[in-house]
Amino acid sequence: MKMTVEMPAVNGCSIKECAYNINERCHAKAITIGHSSIPGCDTFLENSGSMHVDGKLIAGVGACKVSDCVHNVELECGADEISVGISGDQVINCLTYATH
Ligand code: SF4
Ligand code: SF4
Repeated sequence: MKMTVEMPAVNGCSIKECAYNINERCHAKAITIGHSSIPGCDTFLENSGSMHVDGKLIAGVGACKVSDCVHNVELECGADEISVGISGDQVINCLTYATH
């Protein structure tokens, strides 16, 4: 059985080293954000060159474990869309993360 669930879109991701990234768009079905209080991309996978990704898929945020983000509602993302990239601490992060 296939399910259709509305999720916030991953509008862009600058991490070209990730296997899900084609032309700075994420093509995983759904990603997970968060390592406790750090809004990192848990779905990141180093590109080995052998993986085939469906370029028609645009990723959504399936779950987010960063409960202190203003967009977080019961461990899901309530933003309309997010973007992912490298933040100041050189970690792959959700750039839409905000605490106030
Ligand atoms: S959002 Fe995460 S899984 Fe998607 S391309 Fe970027 S680093 Fe990879
Ligand atoms: S905007 Fe906030 S709630 Fe949404 S994925 Fe990013 S860190 Fe999680």
